[in-house]
Amino acid sequence: MVPNHPVTSDCDSQPTNEDSNYHERPDKPEEACGVFGIYAPDEDVAKLTYFGLYALQHRGQESAGIATFLGDTVHLYKDMGLVSQVFNESVLSELPGTIGVGHTRYSTTGSSRRVNAQPAVVDTRLGKLALAHNGNLVNTVKLRDELVKDSINLVTTTDSEMIAYAIAQEVGAGLDWLDGAIKAFHRCEGAFSLVVGTPVGIMGVRDPNGIRPLVIGTIGSNPVRYVLSSETCGLDIIGADYLRDVEPGEVVWITEAGLASYHWSKKPQRKLCVFEMIYFARPDSLMHNETLYSYRMRLGRRLAIESPVEADIVFGVPDSGIPAAIGYSQESGVKYAEGLIKNRYVGRTFIQPTQAMRESGIKMKLNPLKDVLVGKRVIIIDDSIVRGTTSRKLVKALRDAGAIEVHMRISSPPVTHPCFYGIDTDTQDQLIAARFSVEEIRKQLQVDSLAYLSWEGMLEETQEDTNSFCSACFTGDYPVAIPEQVKRTKLVLEKVTV
Ligand code: SF4
Repeated sequence: MVPNHPVTSDCDSQPTNEDSNYHERPDKPEEACGVFGIYAPDEDVAKLTYFGLYALQHRGQESAGIATFLGDTVHLYKDMGLVSQVFNESVLSELPGTIGVGHTRYSTTGSSRRVNAQPAVVDTRLGKLALAHNGNLVNTVKLRDELVKDSINLVTTTDSEMIAYAIAQEVGAGLDWLDGAIKAFHRCEGAFSLVVGTPVGIMGVRDPNGIRPLVIGTIGSNPVRYVLSSETCGLDIIGADYLRDVEPGEVVWITEAGLASYHWSKKPQRKLCVFEMIYFARPDSLMHNETLYSYRMRLGRRLAIESPVEADIVFGVPDSGIPAAIGYSQESGVKYAEGLIKNRYVGRTFIQPTQAMRESGIKMKLNPLKDVLVGKRVIIIDDSIVRGTTSRKLVKALRDAGAIEVHMRISSPPVTHPCFYGIDTDTQDQLIAARFSVEEIRKQLQVDSLAYLSWEGMLEETQEDTNSFCSACFTGDYPVAIPEQVKRTKLVLEKVTV
């Protein structure tokens, strides 16, 4: 039996107006998930997985889970909350094993989704598998129908569980782990970077477009052991060395024999989410052999060339706007200064602020530095504007602190389309740039000038093949076709045939 409720993406559930946290959602696209895996019989895999997830916390803050394999036995612990809240020494000591699979998840609907925390563990003919997924399938209706026909009992509302059951189905039909998994991957469309644990080894997988990142690292030398992580920051924290990315359309199968690579997709076509580079991934993570900090600084330099303005100081919205602000300063000669201080110790809160706090703006998270701002013409740099609600409050707070001119520069183009590949960018009608021109947005935000980075500038500054990125939320040009009924859920401003 399939549950009598709609199937949602694991990481991309939409809020409802009944959701008490709805009005306080961060005004940013929100990351989907972080995944981590390790094969290391000589190590404390639960603890290493914990620290890997700890470094990937920015990718999802609502639930965390670790599954370990000790022979055929799986030990699983998952719950709502931050990695540091879910796990402690005593919980980790109950997770023995040689293989670890970890997941940190973003969702918007709080504790009612506890059942959806990952890894997803399912039984197969060959034993249990534990699956951690980053991304979002777009063909869940078809996949669910296939599973239900086979009397598979889906217990969560996630596409990740469907992938796990699709593998179980293929294995149940007589295939081994690798062939069964590959056959299941061919049934999946959309974005999926996966870590799949089994009693004999772990797999790291990327969809044919490699939309979400996944990297391989090594620890030890005799023998070498392997680690999988959404980003290189998950390797750094445990002292693992970055080896390489899992390629689009590749599966790596890591067992006692070492690492074997298979290109399971005949038509891989690299389309890495460019938003990973602009905002989601940590600035100290490596992509294309450099830290994202360097890329983000180049975006700021390019922005200064494309959209100069006379001002006294430039600063970024902490933390993600800072590298671009430094780049802008270096290129333009406008002095860099810190104009906003971030309260680094606030996590996400489910306690509603008072009405007065709500109206007073954003000061729970960011506080303007009055001494720096008073009497100044300021340039404020942010990485993106989604709904514009936070930007508006921010500008008011800067003016209240004494800034005499506020110029806003955005180190990405206007976000005009929603994401269907595992990032929560709202429905299209909630995206300010889908409804208003730049000049109209400028007026709404009450800034003296507003400019976005060009689409060409964003892609050229990657210094990679500009065709190797997904930038659909800036263009509507989706690299993996979206079924019409899925489009209708978010593309509310465009004509969708259903
Ligand atoms: S639509 Fe935007 S957020 Fe989604 S994968 Fe593409 S670039 Fe990334």
